[in-house]
Amino acid sequence: MKVFDRIGADDYEQVVFCHDRPTGLRAVVCVHSTRLGPALGGTRFYPYADEDDALEDVIRLARGMTYKSAAAGLDLGGGKAVILGDPTTDKSESLLRAYARFVDSLGGRYITAEDVGTTQADMDLIRRETRHVTGVSRALGGSGDPSAATAYGVLHGMKAVARHLWDESALEGRHVVIAGVGKVGSNLVRHLVEERARVTVADVDPSAVARVARDFAVDTAPVEKVHAVECDIYAPCALGAVLNTATIPELRSAAVVGSANNQLAEPDDARRLAEAGVLYAPDFVVNAGGVINIADELSVGGYHRERAYAAVRRIFDTTLAVITTAATGGITTAEAAERLAERRIADLTHVHSIRTSRGGP
Ligand code: NAD
Repeated sequence: MKVFDRIGADDYEQVVFCHDRPTGLRAVVCVHSTRLGPALGGTRFYPYADEDDALEDVIRLARGMTYKSAAAGLDLGGGKAVILGDPTTDKSESLLRAYARFVDSLGGRYITAEDVGTTQADMDLIRRETRHVTGVSRALGGSGDPSAATAYGVLHGMKAVARHLWDESALEGRHVVIAGVGKVGSNLVRHLVEERARVTVADVDPSAVARVARDFAVDTAPVEKVHAVECDIYAPCALGAVLNTATIPELRSAAVVGSANNQLAEPDDARRLAEAGVLYAPDFVVNAGGVINIADELSVGGYHRERAYAAVRRIFDTTLAVITTAATGGITTAEAAERLAERRIADLTHVHSIRTSRGGP
């Protein structure tokens, strides 16, 4: 990969390669933007096929975080990190703490968090070397696992969609199909059952389905065709790229609202969804609950759950604003969400250029 060509095209600020032979650490930190604040994003620990795969992943994910935090109204930029390796065999205390020292060396330009292949316990270890980490355990003053807040945010995205489509935000009696009942999906099931919605679930892991079906007495569907189940809202809560040229014609839902990142296989799928009459709630808008929750750890005085959850509930307003902008402007919801984020970054970049008593911009 020609790194400067790749990062130059989308105005990335910084890519940092971290290497430590004794611990076997090979990591890449990518800071896409710090225009709204420090670049917050998780650390993914993954056995990438090669270095280019790792680099492409971290670059793509960092930009996504810029948009997610900007649209969520946070004073944060976007970044991401990857550690190359198999977390089940390559992870060690010394490797994580070596990594943490590299994070610390960035002086707060990048703030890390948990992601695929890393855990809250890992964040606790990283905390021993740097302040620039969120999602640490409650005992250390953190907010803990972000999945519950993510599910709560997706619920409020669904309520906004319901308000737009059916004129009432209540989900009672609505049929919601959830693909993937892991940490986020299972919390979402609980909320929807409490709302008296009808819920159907599917997962590649039969034990995950069995657990949720036992705890909540919900229906189940075969995982290969879960996207084609007739319902009001289809909620992808597992993998990305599930909305594509093969699945979109088979959808039989009025809307798609789920937690999975990068649900559209390609940008044109947003238009395909609109043409198929399916209302798509952009993933990075409705799945921002986790980042909103951990961002609260950075507040003066530390994490406050009620305040954080109040901020997560605002996903309702953001989702509704995006849907309305798309409808009135004749653009897709995905475009409307991106414009919302870009506008906020542009507007606040101007505000930050105003000289104050603290000094210049
Ligand atoms: P998880 O690993 O706990 O759960 C994912 C579940 O999906 C697992 O039960 C897995 O068996 C299942 N699954 C895998 N492939 C599947 C398939 N093809 N069809 C159906 N099910 C499948 O992950 P999670 O933390 O619940 O996250 C779910 C999604 O939401 C991911 O895309 C993640 O990136 C995204 N997300 C999570 C958070 C968070 O706070 N955890 C925040 C934002 C976005």
